[in-house]
Formats: sequence, structure tokens, C-alpha cells
Amino acid sequence: MLFKEKFKTVLLKTRALRLRQWMLPQAVAIIAYHSVTTDWKKQSDYINRGITTDADKFNEQMRILRNEYNPVTLDEIAEWIRGTKLLPARSVAVTFDDGFADNYYIAAPIMERYDIRGTIYLTVDAVQRGELPWFCRTAFLFQQAAARKIVLLDSETKRTWNLGNPDENREAFIYYNYPCAKLTGEELRNYIEKLETWFNFRLDRNDISGMMTFEQARELRQRGHNIGNHTLSHCNLAHISQELLCQEIAGADEILKRELGEPVEHFSYPHPCLNPQWNDATVAETEKLNYKTVTLTSFGVVTQRSLPLLLPRIMISNQDNKEFRWKLETALAGIQT
Ligand SMILES: [Zn+2]
Repeated sequence: MLFKEKFKTVLLKTRALRLRQWMLPQAVAIIAYHSVTTDWKKQSDYINRGITTDADKFNEQMRILRNEYNPVTLDEIAEWIRGTKLLPARSVAVTFDDGFADNYYIAAPIMERYDIRGTIYLTVDAVQRGELPWFCRTAFLFQQAAARKIVLLDSETKRTWNLGNPDENREAFIYYNYPCAKLTGEELRNYIEKLETWFNFRLDRNDISGMMTFEQARELRQRGHNIGNHTLSHCNLAHISQELLCQEIAGADEILKRELGEPVEHFSYPHPCLNPQWNDATVAETEKLNYKTVTLTSFGVVTQRSLPLLLPRIMISNQDNKEFRWKLETALAGIQT
């Protein structure tokens, strides 16, 4: 472990990775965040550690982007892929999935300090209802159940789960999350409410940072940020019917267009669980809606040969400066770590 850390430090210092980047065709990076918080412990205990970034670390990451990279927008990347624009080496675009209110209150002001503009993809149903997306609610149930050592009775299968046991908790978490990823709209809401009734507690929407409002989204748009589509329900689009997938993408697009007063040009695939996250039908739907870019949770950098409707990203959460640089440098050098 110690050797690995020293190895990373040496590689970053000698700029060997940069040399490798110069030898490869130009690549740009799209980095992806979710929640940015000033109370990391609480937020990550409540929802999901992997999607929560501490505000101070985020500030450091934006400082590094401004000083050591070239922050760009998704519109610029789309033009670069089309061949109508040149981008400087080491260009990086910043994106946020889901549409948490902290993107408005915390992340955007930090980005603006460094003159960086990002794209925030909204989970439209969650924003409209002012409720956290379903995967935050299930994460909360299972994380709290582990701490409270709850024994859960599934009143349909009559199975009991000892959720204080880490293995059983993990198994149950997957067992109850997979069906959610295939549900949308009212069916999804009913399923989550049934789970919350069995657990006999639920995530209080006022207890942590909730969703941003359309008004805040409009304001961010005026401040130069971009707002994208992240579906209505945050389902896995590759695992639902054609009819539902049109509704999830085009339905959300319609609402966003109405609320923002302009067309929406960027989309990101929700990927709560299950693989794959896209298929031919989902790509056809995003093509029909003329999106300039569509991003995935799959790891990778973007080259001029990338397909604009299937762009990989680099997922960032609570990395320290060294880890953040390591992730970006290795990715731009074509290495998956
Ligand atoms: Zn998401």
C-alpha cells in the first residue's frame, strides 16, 4: 500500500503520465459528481458515501482544474467532436447527476470562484415533487437498518432479513434495489412506500439537502451553467419497455423545456444498478431528441472518435488532491486504474 502511494507520487511528480498523454491522440475528460456537502459525514451516512463530496475537497478540486487543466463545457466538447472547434490539451468538463440542491447552494458558487461552469442533470420527477430520488431513500433505509440492527419482515414473501448482519444487509439491499431500477412513476413510488412501511421509518426530506427547484435551475442557467435531462424516475432505461423509456426521456425533456423556457441539449443515463445502462432503443430515443451530448457512468475519456450519444466519464467523489490528480492523469494517459 505504502509502495503504491509512493509510486503514485513519483509518477505524478516526474510527469511521466503527461508524456504519455502527448503521445496519444488528444483526449478530454468529463468528470461526474453528485452531491457536494458541508456536512460530509451526515450526508454520506444518510444517503450514499460514493456520491457525496466534501465542499472543501470540491473547492480544492476546482482550484486544481483551474490551475493545472483547462475547464470547458459540454457544448465545447460537442463542437470539438464535430471538428468545428479546437480545445486546449487537458480540457475537462464538470457534470453533476441527479439535481441535488447542494449543487445550487454549494457547488455552483465554488465553481464560479474559479470561473468554471458545469452541467447539472435533473431527475425531473424528484425535482417536481421535492423528494429525494428513490435510490437515496433505499440507501437510507438499509444504512440505518444496519446501525439499528433491524430484523426486517417482508410481509409478501414472509422472509425475515437480519439487517444488522453486513452480508445479509448487502444481499437484501440488492434484492430490493433491483426491482426499483426497473420501475417508473407511480409503481416505483408505491414500491418505495411499501418498503418504508415495512421498515417503519423513512428519510425525512428536510433532514438532508434535498433537490434543487426549477427556479434555482433557471438561475443557474442565467449564471452560465447548463441544465440537462436525467429522466423522470431515475430508472435503468435498458431494463424497461419501449413505451416507458420514451416517457422517461421525452417526458422529462418536455417538462424541462417548459420549465427552463429553452430546449435541453444534454442528457445523462441514470445508472442506479443493473447492467447495461443503455441499448439501441435508448440511443435511438436520445438521437430523436437531438441531444448534443449524452453521458454514461462508464469510465473513460473522450476523443474525437467518441460517439456524442455515448460519452464515458470519470466519477469523482471525496478524493484528496493526490487521488484527484491521479484519476485525471491516468485517465488522460489512457490507463484505467
Ligand atoms: Zn443519477
